[in-house]
Amino acid sequence: MNKAVFLDRDGVINEVLTDRVKFVNRPSDLYFLPGVPEAIKKLNAFFDYIFVVTNQGGVGLGFMKESQLNKIHDHMIAELKKEGAIIHDVAYCPHKPKAGCECRKPKPKLILELIKKYEIDLSKSYMVGDTDTDIIAGKKAGIKGVFLGKSDPLADAVFPDLISAVDWIIEDAKA
Ligand SMILES: [Mg+2]
Ligand SMILES: [Zn+2]
Repeated sequence: MNKAVFLDRDGVINEVLTDRVKFVNRPSDLYFLPGVPEAIKKLNAFFDYIFVVTNQGGVGLGFMKESQLNKIHDHMIAELKKEGAIIHDVAYCPHKPKAGCECRKPKPKLILELIKKYEIDLSKSYMVGDTDTDIIAGKKAGIKGVFLGKSDPLADAVFPDLISAVDWIIEDAKA
């Protein structure tokens, strides 16, 4: 069985709704948050897999094509790889936020599919996100939740950003 960290994308890996970027609709809109490549590299040293699980309602709403979303993810993976940080798979929901689909977080389907595909050990795996829907999706899938922000009622731990969270995640998984 394998250990994994599931990362939300917007607000965890890259900027969203900042001065220079509103939503990420092109590769050039992707700005990594401080310390993210280093954080993923540290997680790579302990965990078998690092996944990205992201709601991308902008596809369903017509702001970007699915092919464009895939280009953004290829770019993200390539840029991180240059820094020695490896993302093993990306799962996304491309549907409209209110479409009622089965994959959009807080539903756990995207996480559950990765758990099955990669034979993930639930007790040694974590969902990291900046909204309550991320934490809820992780809990429904049966994994621990790490919230990035101020507070979250369901999270097992809360940190301001990913780089601040990695040491706790690794120590907790060793316990
Ligand atoms: Mg987010
Ligand atoms: Zn969906």
